[in-house]
Amino acid sequence: MREYQKTEETLLAVTCNACGKTLRVENGMLLEEAIAVRHPFGYFSSMDGEIHSFDLCEDCYRKWISGFCIPVKIEENTELLVDTE
Ligand SMILES: [Zn+2]
Repeated sequence: MREYQKTEETLLAVTCNACGKTLRVENGMLLEEAIAVRHPFGYFSSMDGEIHSFDLCEDCYRKWISGFCIPVKIEENTELLVDTE
C-alpha cells in the first residue's frame, strides 16, 4: 500500500500489506526494498475490470515465495555492475 501527496506525486509512505510494517521513506524516496504488485485482471478472470495492487516488505516476499512449488526465476542484474576497466 502506497500513499502519495497528490499535488506533487511525492511518495509519503509505504506499508507492507502482509505484515503492516511501515517501510522507511525520506524525502519521497523509499529507503528499503519493497515488492510492488499491480495487476489489472482481464476478461477471462472472475475479477475482470478490477485492478489489484499491493506492496510487500522483503521478509514477507521471502515467506511468500518459499511456498511456491516451482521456485522463482533468479537472474543476475548486470545493470548494477560497474565496469572498472
Ligand atoms: Zn511484511
